[in-house]
Amino acid sequence: MVSIYTVIKCKTCDLEFVVLSENLKAMPDNRYLVCPFCNSKRVIVTKANDSLKECMKESAYRRVHGSLKQVK
Ligand SMILES: [Zn+2]
Repeated sequence: MVSIYTVIKCKTCDLEFVVLSENLKAMPDNRYLVCPFCNSKRVIVTKANDSLKECMKESAYRRVHGSLKQVK
């Protein structure tokens, strides 16, 4: 089963965010992911989620939203 979502963790600020796995695959090799919170390139793929429902249960998802609210 192909996972729809991939959880990416930033090694600089320790926050996590979610991207579509197919977008990751479609991303050109000369591009790179950066953390949406601190713009760091030091991000790692931690795990993939099979459904949005499962994904939303992750505390990482809630943390992403909590952080977004703090951004002005
Ligand atoms: Zn970061």
